[in-house]
This record gives sequence, C-alpha cells and structure tokens, in this order.
Amino acid sequence: MKNINPINIIGGGLAGSEAAWQIAKAKIPVIIHEMRPKIKTEVHKTKYLSELVCSNSFRSDDYENNAVGVLHQEMRYANSLIMECADNSKLPAGGALAVDRLKFAKSVEDHLISNPYISIQRNEIKSVPESTDWGNTIIASGPLTSKNLSNYILKTTEEKSLAFFDAIAPIVYFDSIDMDVAWFQSRYDKGNGKDYINCPLNKEEYYDFINALNNSEKIEFKNWEKTTPYFEGCMPIEVMASRGLETLRHGPMKPFGLTNSHRPKIKPYAVVQLRQDNSLGSLWNIVGFQTKMSYKAQKEVFKKIPGLFEAQFARLGGLHRNTFINSPKLLNKNLTNKKNTKIFFAGQITGVEGYVESAATGLLAGIFVACKIKNKKTILPPKSSALGSLLNHITEPKNAENFQPMNINFGLFPNNLIKTPTPKKKEGRLEKRKLTAKKALMDSIKWAKKVKSLIH
Ligand SMILES: Cc1cc2nc3c(=O)[nH]c(=O)nc-3n(C[C@H](O)[C@H](O)[C@H](O)COP(=O)(O)OP(=O)(O)OC[C@H]3O[C@@H](n4cnc5c(N)ncnc54)[C@H](O)[C@@H]3O)c2cc1C
Repeated sequence: MKNINPINIIGGGLAGSEAAWQIAKAKIPVIIHEMRPKIKTEVHKTKYLSELVCSNSFRSDDYENNAVGVLHQEMRYANSLIMECADNSKLPAGGALAVDRLKFAKSVEDHLISNPYISIQRNEIKSVPESTDWGNTIIASGPLTSKNLSNYILKTTEEKSLAFFDAIAPIVYFDSIDMDVAWFQSRYDKGNGKDYINCPLNKEEYYDFINALNNSEKIEFKNWEKTTPYFEGCMPIEVMASRGLETLRHGPMKPFGLTNSHRPKIKPYAVVQLRQDNSLGSLWNIVGFQTKMSYKAQKEVFKKIPGLFEAQFARLGGLHRNTFINSPKLLNKNLTNKKNTKIFFAGQITGVEGYVESAATGLLAGIFVACKIKNKKTILPPKSSALGSLLNHITEPKNAENFQPMNINFGLFPNNLIKTPTPKKKEGRLEKRKLTAKKALMDSIKWAKKVKSLIH
C-alpha cells in the first residue's frame, strides 16, 4: 500500500511511536512529525523519540494480579514496539518493569528509522492542514503539546481549556549516597536484593523532615495556574505532607516489608526509597518524591534524609503543565474526533495517565486507522480486557461530566463478568482480580489474532 497517502502522526512520543509501528505493520505508509530537537518542551532532555520524561518504570509487570501488568501482556500479544523495547532495556526492579531510559528510547527510534513504511520529519505542526495529503491524522502530542497546536485543538474541539499539572521526582548520583546508612532491599524481599536503596528515618528525623517540607519554599503559581487541579497519582510530596503528619508514612515513606541491614533490630519509623535509573547503576530516583519546591529548597530538605546528607542531584524535581481533552465528550469509540473523523487522538492527551497507558492508546489508534484504510470494521478490543477497559474510560459518554486522567486499574474493568463467593472479603477481592486478569488475557489473545489476520 505504498501508493496511498501516508497517515500523519503529530508527536513521536510513547503513543505516536507505537501508533506508527502498528500502522507500518499493516503495510501502510506513515509520517511521524516530531518538533524536538528544533523546539523543546519544558521536560524532555534528548532528541530521541519515546523519551521517558520522569520515572524509568513501566510499573508492575505482574500480569496475574495487577492491572498494569495485564496491560503490558495484552500489548505484547499485539506486537507492541514499546513493550518489546522495554523488555529489551529492562533493569532489576523487583516485580516492576524498569528500563534504562536511554537504551529504551534509542531502541524505539532505531526500530522506527529502519522501517521502510515510516518516515520521520522534525517539525512543529501548528494545525492540521486542510490539504488532501493530510487525509488521516493522529494527534499524539502529549501532555506538553506545543502552544500553537493546543490552540488549534481548542478551536477544533470547541473546548475552553486543556491543562492541569504533573510533577517530577529528583535523581541522585549513587556515589553520593551514604551506604553505611542506607541499604539495598526490595520491599518484602521481592526481586534480586539490589533493586532499591532504602534510607531509614527515626520518629524525630521523620517529624523534622515533614516540618522542613511544610516550611519549604515552593514555586509560585501564575494566576492562570491557580485553579488547575493535581492528578492524585502524581501528587507533589509537600502537598501530601500538608495533608497530615502521618500521610507520607502511609504513602511513599511507608516502612513496611523492610529490615535495615545495618541495624536489623531497630524498625525505622519511615523509609525513603530510591530506584535504579540507568543500567550502570550510577543514577537513582527518589520514589514518589515528585515536588514543586524550589531547587534551593529541594537540596536543603532532601539532604535531611539519613543516607542523603551529602547527596548530589543529577536532576531536581519539578512541576509541569499537562494537557488533555475531554475525550468521553469529544471522541468516538475508534478515537476519532466526533467533529472531524479524519482526526484521531492518542496518548496522554486523551486523558489516560502514564507511559504504558499512553502507548496503549497509540497501539489502538494505529490499529483503528489501519482498519479504516483497509475498509474493515473497527476491531475494538474486548470489553473484558485492560485495553478495552481503558478505551471505555476515555470514550464512554457517561464519563464526560467529571472526566479526569486515569491509570489502568481493576476499577475500570467491567464489574459483572466475574463472580466470586466472597466479593467483599480480601481473599474474594484478590481472587476476583486474578480471574479478571485471566479472562482479559484469554480474550486478548483472540483479539490480537483477529487484528493480525484482518489488517496485517
Ligand atoms: C512532567 C511529567 C512527568 C511525568 N512522569 C511520568 C512518570 O513518571 N511515569 C509515567 O508513567 N508517566 C509520566 N508522565 C505522564 C505521561 O504518561 C508521559 O508524559 C508520556 O510520555 C505520555 O506519552 P505521549 O506519547 O502521550 O506524550 P509524549 O511522550 O510527551 O510525546 C509527545 C511528543 O509530541 C511532541 N510534540 C508536542 N507538540 C508537538 C507539535 N505541535 N508538533 C510536533 N511534535 C509535537 C513532543 O515533543 C513529544 O515528543 C509524566 C508527564 C509529565 C508532563
């Protein structure tokens, strides 16, 4: 199908890269338009496609009990490029799928460059041109969509606003961590024993730390930012601290499942964990420590953590704009804009949250475009699957009123497919998740086969 107009994808991030791969699998030409490195975002550091802007983790890889693990596996069944490159760049991280971020991004880009159906143009797209060369377009410009394109999207969707906030966590150099105080261990000893570094705090140190967080200098909000809500899963640490003295001890600083190897008989009151950020093991990110404190305050406050007194930071945390549309109101089930069905949306801009979820909607948009070009009925993923549940979250009109970005979770799966004898008890709930995961995977295998036979 090389003589047909190529599909245009705006944005070569997680979603755009995956969508291009799926379209190329169907032997349809595709152009990725990526504005970096000519035009930078506030967060991306490299020129690579599919750069991971914050954590290096794709979260749990447990496809028997965890919803994001199920999503990983379903994407693998559907030949996901993002999952293939993540698996090939894997770092030790207990039950999580963490990657060497540079190796991952380079590998995605190499695959795309060497595919004969894919071309990459480095340019900012300010609006979707009316010309016929731009037949079908996927907008996958992400949470940091350029201002010009945001304005175009506002105009074309007739919406009033698109922004909210996300925050990123700091990264510390390994050789600046005091390993006579900190120790290696994964919670409940999952993984290979060297996946996380733990810094212990006693009660006094913990309260002193909370106090410092509460009194720290924060980045000023600009006027238009003041009414922008936080996404609960990416809440800045100082906002959590301000909700109560013990809040962090029950969140990212929980001390459970850990024994201090230097002082095994003394239980820490709270623990700060760091996770490996590159294959060399030279960089470690502070888990769950997204922040909007000023850089100066971050250095002062984080150096109060035992083990980090001399910490050197490779990157400090920050606070950034996010951009998403009210998809349940604006999009059809095949991710096309109700007002212009030549425009598809994918990625974080559709109101999913997270690397995996963004890539998953890219995968779906790629398959849906291919169905359209090949005159096939849209092959929707099964409702029982993680892909189907995510798609339902962003395209079910009933969700439009209070629509907020969402990670995949078992709460999004249909509630009535699996029955267990004791659904209200913990064992019953866990059993239900297991069975839900099993059914999702069985149904997805059939779906992926159908996609392959109809469009590849
Ligand atoms: C600060 C921050 C921290 C985050 N931290 C995490 C995290 O730790 N874990 C997690 O799972 N998720 C995180 N996310 C959320 C999100 O899942 C990721 O941002 C993810 O990369 C989204 O994938 P995407 O493909 O939709 O967008 P992106 O990966 O951002 O890709 C979009 C691409 O479009 C390009 N672009 C934008 N406008 C234009 C234009 N007009 N023309 C051409 N190109 C354009 C951009 O340069 C970019 O390369 C974070 C988001 C932000 C903003």
